[in-house]
Formats: sequence, structure tokens, C-alpha cells
Amino acid sequence: MADAGYESEENYLFLEKNGQSSYIKPTNYEISKTRKYRTDISRQENMSYDKETDSYTCKNGKRLYASGTRRSRTASGYVNVATVYRCGDCSGCPHKDKCIKGNNCKTPMEERTKVLYVSRTKEEKRAENLGRIMSEYGTQLRMNRSIQAEGTFAVVKEDMGFRQYLYRGMKNALAESVLVAIAYNFNKLHWKIQSQKTGIRLYELNKTA
Ligand code: SF4
Repeated sequence: MADAGYESEENYLFLEKNGQSSYIKPTNYEISKTRKYRTDISRQENMSYDKETDSYTCKNGKRLYASGTRRSRTASGYVNVATVYRCGDCSGCPHKDKCIKGNNCKTPMEERTKVLYVSRTKEEKRAENLGRIMSEYGTQLRMNRSIQAEGTFAVVKEDMGFRQYLYRGMKNALAESVLVAIAYNFNKLHWKIQSQKTGIRLYELNKTA
């Protein structure tokens, strides 16, 4: 369970390899609900895809076919492979300024063609993950993550007054973090024992009629 900052193909595959199911909010989760996103013709998500020909059809009715792959390496060495889809003919298109982004490009707009970079693996993993987080259990996990993880930061910073590290260096900062976590957990356990809630790990979703 993690927030959108942790979504990546590498993380999805890491979890899968370790026998864990991801419940990660996709980076486009919030924005994808907006009108601006849904009407953005430059996005591959808003173009129709034909599996048989492996091509997208754009707002102007032109096809973008797969024309190769692009590889990029993450800081940890993982290699992302994206399929490159290129439009055959963008000349004279009336939607060009809305479809082709990147105003810093030195090539004049008249000479540019639309290119999409799509990682099939990420698409697939993101769709599976989205199905999980939209389920009732996924919704419950998301609610609990925001209460338990974000709430913990609030308690540690505001109630316990932990606003800055006293020691420097990774090792010392880690040791200090562990001490704070132990203190926090003692408090939490004490509260749970007092309120007889030791067996409860997840808050229930509010059921509305
Ligand atoms: S710029 Fe190219 S890809 Fe975009 S809508 Fe026009 S023809 Fe289609």
C-alpha cells in the first residue's frame, strides 16, 4: 500500500517478484478524473487503440504505428522498455498545437510529427493494480493508509514535537528514527490496550445506505 509517488514499472515488478500485491495509487489517478485530462487529445489514453494492428488512432483520424523501442535505465539499474508509436502524417493537421507538446523543441512545428512512448508492461501492471485499489478491500486499504501513515507523521511531528533530527549522517538519523518509532509504537499500543482495540488492524469503511 503506497501513495502515487511510489508508482513505477520497476516497483510493480519488484512486488510481483516478491509475491506481494500492489495497492498503489497511479500517478495519474486524481488528474485522470478531470475534464482537462479527459479532453487532452495529446494523451495516448484518449486515443483509440487497435490491438490487431498495434496502432493508435488520433483526433485527426491518423494512425500511429509502432516504429521501434526506447530503453531507459533507472537509478537502480532497471531497464524500462517503451514502444515508440509514430504518426505517419501530421502535416496540415488543425489539432497540431494541442496534440504535440514541448515548446522548447528546436524543430519548427510544421515539421514535427506526433510520437508516443508506451510501456506495455507498465500499462498492464497499472491496470491490474487499479482493479485492486478500486475494489472494496483496496478502498479500505487506501483509507487506512491515509489515516495510519499520514496520521503517524502528524502525531510524531505535532504531539511528540519531533521536528528535526538531532544527529547527522545516515546511520545516526536511522537510529534516531528507530527510537522515535519505538516511542510512537509504545504510545499506540498503550492506547490500544486501554481502549481494547488490540486485535483491530484496519478501520472499517463507513457504509452509507
Ligand atoms: S498532430 Fe498528428 S497525431 Fe496529432 S491529431 Fe494531428 S495528425 Fe493526429
